[in-house]
Amino acid sequence: MGFVKSLKCRECGRDFPLEALHVCEYCFGPLEVDYNYDEIKKVITRELIESRGSNMWRYKELLPLEGDPTVGMQVGFTPLVKAGNLAKVLGVEELYIKNDAVNFPSLSFKDRVVSVAMSRAREMGFKVVSCASTGNLANSVAANAAACGMENYVFIPHNLERSKVLGTLVYGTHVVGIKGTYDEVNRLCSEIAGRYGWAFVNINIRPYYAEGSKAFGFEIAEQLGWKTPKHVVVPMAGGSLICKILKAFKEFEKVGLLDDPVETKVYGAQAAGCNPIVRAVKAGKELIEPVHPDTIAKSLAIGNPADGYYAARTMRETGGTGEDVTDQEILDAMKLLAETEGIFAETAGGVTLGAAKKLIENGVIPRDESIVLSITGNGLKTQEALEGNLVEPPVINANIADFEELVSRSGEKYKAAAKG
Ligand SMILES: *Cc1c(COP(=O)(O)O)cnc(C)c1O
Ligand SMILES: [Zn+2]
Repeated sequence: MGFVKSLKCRECGRDFPLEALHVCEYCFGPLEVDYNYDEIKKVITRELIESRGSNMWRYKELLPLEGDPTVGMQVGFTPLVKAGNLAKVLGVEELYIKNDAVNFPSLSFKDRVVSVAMSRAREMGFKVVSCASTGNLANSVAANAAACGMENYVFIPHNLERSKVLGTLVYGTHVVGIKGTYDEVNRLCSEIAGRYGWAFVNINIRPYYAEGSKAFGFEIAEQLGWKTPKHVVVPMAGGSLICKILKAFKEFEKVGLLDDPVETKVYGAQAAGCNPIVRAVKAGKELIEPVHPDTIAKSLAIGNPADGYYAARTMRETGGTGEDVTDQEILDAMKLLAETEGIFAETAGGVTLGAAKKLIENGVIPRDESIVLSITGNGLKTQEALEGNLVEPPVINANIADFEELVSRSGEKYKAAAKG
């Protein structure tokens, strides 16, 4: 197709061939996919995109494959929900939720990065795919590998949520639980990648993987009517998604798909129990100091984030900032989102909404400009976080007298029934 040009070092700008490389051999900077934007501009139009299927491959010219995709053909184009009820509670005028809690097939935004990484891995001739994961990536690699028949190995910290473990095992993959944090899992996987020659989607083929996150941003802009929002709040683990949402907006601008220039401010959200990027941003520091994670938001529990430096820079350069929230604030925000919009997000969604709420209350995000909240994963996968935090249902015998007794006992709570 000829739209992908090379891998380019983000630090020294040197070009590298489109192979399984991720670090510059001269300066150790991370490599990023570079495109032939002039050629893309000649072919891409709003009409062409709109004529295609409702999945992320409608933007294929801006994704890093040489041929057509072969993995995850149904991934993406999740709803952008206008969140009127939540907007009222937060006291803001224009609020949207980009809802990847319902992304196909494994209910998180990771299906985007995985379908790109695995399609590319197959193009490059890899026979085995693998990953180091905080949970959602494991679900997605296992599901997509099963669907395309690739052998796969998944490495996770041993103490993840049960649903994330079971939701990986079910696909018949090889799951290895590691006694350690994600950062230790990741270090081990770097060694395994070198020794076994497998495609670790988020390690040795990370430049391709990371590009998949752009589709989250492309969709937001298209679904807003080919406009970008004034503010977008994004949960951060390794810090890649937040960078790629902005890259997506800028690319749309570059290839002529937007009427107005991008003026989006980007805000990163983390749990207080694992906030290395937010902490650096708040302190005005360039250096990201690793932390030891301790939070219920396990999908975001990366103490030494690979793209932390660039995430912080993205926030700074757009005029955004970072915010963190306690575990209790995460739970409260999960409930708030569910109660107002009927959307059950995982703990990471609580981090995003909790942080957004603080940023609005503190006057950092103005109340009269468009705001998008990035919901990246599904609440059914982190249910144990809510254990003990919701009011359990009353249990009665299966007879009408017991129900009437319950109604009379519970007045306010059973208003509709009490009115009879
Ligand atoms: C992986 C993940 C993120 C963050 O992704 P990065 O690109 O590593 O910052 C956000 N939300 C959920 C639910 C995730 O699983
Ligand atoms: Zn370099």
